[in-house]
Amino acid sequence: MADFERFSVITCPACGHRERERMPVDACQFYYDCKGCGQMLRPEAGDCCVYCSFGTAKCPPIQMGEGCCDTKV
Ligand SMILES: [Zn+2]
Repeated sequence: MADFERFSVITCPACGHRERERMPVDACQFYYDCKGCGQMLRPEAGDCCVYCSFGTAKCPPIQMGEGCCDTKV
């Protein structure tokens, strides 16, 4: 299996809180509750998951070049 980053640090756009999270390997996480302010984060337009929008690493499917669950038809 290809090597990829399993952890991503999500930065909340609302309060700036940063939290290191382990990403699901075979699924995209669309919603994320900020551990700082409780805001529910959603991906920005064009991004498949909250890690792609707010994390330090893209989600595993993107890292492996497979595209994301949403973009696969
Ligand atoms: Zn927050």
